[in-house]
Amino acid sequence: MAEHGPSTRSIHAGAVPGEDVVPPLRRSVITRFDSAERFGAVMAGTEEGYLYGRIASPTVRETAAAIAELEGAEGCELTASGMAAVHAAMVTVVPNGGRLVVALQTYGNSISLFRDFLGPRLGVDVRVVDVTDLAAVRTACEGGADAIYCETIANPGSTVADLDALGALARSAGARLVVDSTLATPLLCRPLEHGAHLVLHSATKFLNGHHDVLAGAICGTADDLARVRAFLIDTGGVGEPDTAWLLRRGMRTLALRMERQCANALAIASWLEARDDVVGVPYPGLPSHPQHEVAARLLDGGFGAVLAFEVAGGRVGGEAVMNGTRLIDRSTSLGGIVTGISHPASTSHRQLTEDELTAAGVPAGLLRLAVGAEDAGDLIADLAAALAPA
Ligand SMILES: *Cc1c(COP(=O)(O)O)cnc(C)c1O
Repeated sequence: MAEHGPSTRSIHAGAVPGEDVVPPLRRSVITRFDSAERFGAVMAGTEEGYLYGRIASPTVRETAAAIAELEGAEGCELTASGMAAVHAAMVTVVPNGGRLVVALQTYGNSISLFRDFLGPRLGVDVRVVDVTDLAAVRTACEGGADAIYCETIANPGSTVADLDALGALARSAGARLVVDSTLATPLLCRPLEHGAHLVLHSATKFLNGHHDVLAGAICGTADDLARVRAFLIDTGGVGEPDTAWLLRRGMRTLALRMERQCANALAIASWLEARDDVVGVPYPGLPSHPQHEVAARLLDGGFGAVLAFEVAGGRVGGEAVMNGTRLIDRSTSLGGIVTGISHPASTSHRQLTEDELTAAGVPAGLLRLAVGAEDAGDLIADLAAALAPA
């Protein structure tokens, strides 16, 4: 499979020869056994089989297998949401009282999970550092760490983490590198090939791609995944069949969507950068992006479909553009086929203090564009009209 192109991989990942091209949706959460012995053996784990939906179910397993194949991972567990994946992964790799070094450029809810739960409740020493400052990461790891946590492409400033360097740092610190690769998808980057131990996705975003599923995924070694699975079974944040089935359906067009969405993002970013009323356009596909070279080394086939741009006039200027679009939705989330615009300082990054906002590259006039699969010309015309009065 790995030798095939991205579209072939998206369409055929997890395919089982001799079975339906479209796998059936199997909703049953219980299995009928033909004998007490078989029932007992499956329950004891001495025989393979399905028993109860929270423990394992066929449709969920099939979708997870497809994601594992795309990531080049030994295993994958599907979770109820991206946050359930972050939670399960981190509680698995960081022991109570352990140390977690986390990128400042991290999704808001992940940061608050680490700071407000792992820190005070589980006694984890949470150290937040600028992921582009490798010396700072090294210092934060001094004396040993359990995990380094980062995102391949972070939102909204599109900071790209140098996974190869972080993987090496993690190994010398005896830590695991855990990578949220939601914005890169397994098509643009396969973090396990760059030193990551665990890869997470909010499958709600690009993997599903149609704004109609909430799901997450954790990929890694069979050993790590066994511990993740045990945690998920006990805490209940597992994936379920209907969403798994829809997710698998969405994933078949992942490459088609990524190709269009990444091309749209690059066209819009280049157009925005040439305007006088736009202060900056952090998009890793532009040579002006501080991690453009890292991105070019790490990403294959595109630079992602999320971009930010800063307009003059700060918060008021940003809100005027938000209110001026007619085609582009004022909506949160990203990764789907419908383009949406949002204002991070008042939405996704509201957990950060003013200083942290500036440090994380989220000034008040920054707008985030989650680029969809519409026609680039239509999106640009809509933005032109929204920017005109600003
Ligand atoms: C959306 C998102 C999450 C959380 O995923 P949910 O599916 O909303 O729980 C985590 N990380 C990143 C980068 C995201 O964009």
